Amino acid sequence: MPTSFKMDKTKLKQFDLEETDCDDVIETCIYNLLVALGDDPEREGLKGTPDRVRRMYHEVFAGMKLTNSEIAQRYNKCFEEGATGDLVTIADIPIFSYCEHHIALMYSMKVHVGYIPKGKVIGLSKVARIADMVSRRLQLQERIGADIADVLEQVLDTDDIIVVIEGEHSCMTARGIKKPGTKTRTATLRGLFKTDGSLRQEFYSLVSKT
Ligand SMILES: [Zn+2]
Repeated sequence: MPTSFKMDKTKLKQFDLEETDCDDVIETCIYNLLVALGDDPEREGLKGTPDRVRRMYHEVFAGMKLTNSEIAQRYNKCFEEGATGDLVTIADIPIFSYCEHHIALMYSMKVHVGYIPKGKVIGLSKVARIADMVSRRLQLQERIGADIADVLEQVLDTDDIIVVIEGEHSCMTARGIKKPGTKTRTATLRGLFKTDGSLRQEFYSLVSKT
């Protein structure tokens, strides 16, 4: 189809740098993005879009307002546990995130965590909340694993931690090389999990049974 596309610069909104805040910047940027794509931000279907995107971003990027230490403090609910040295696994925690290269959704993601307690264990729901919160950032799959391990290390006082993540990246499945179903798997190994192959094996066999 022939196109005579030209951005209508007169529709672009300017920033008032004195008055503007984060909410305003997000909304104005989305508005201008719609103009740059050649659409009309004032038409019915798009009228509320900058506002909707702003609210969605606050939700899906909530973890960007917290450091890993702050997340550790927030979910620091542990139980003293005499038994030490037994492998604890939590498998199949579902998460969503956004890749930092394309701001594109990473989905069908599952997190599997294993650790060896040194005197305390963490509530299962707290591990899920930690995984969820560090995912609410512009991320790389590898870094989600490292962030979860960092937070758990602070909460559990052990570095014997493994985090395995699998997921699909829409920047790979819906554009570019377009290979739907391509799963990316990453593993973050700390402490004993780095050196002890049979421990890793034990973790993988426990996780695959769930
Ligand atoms: Zn990407």
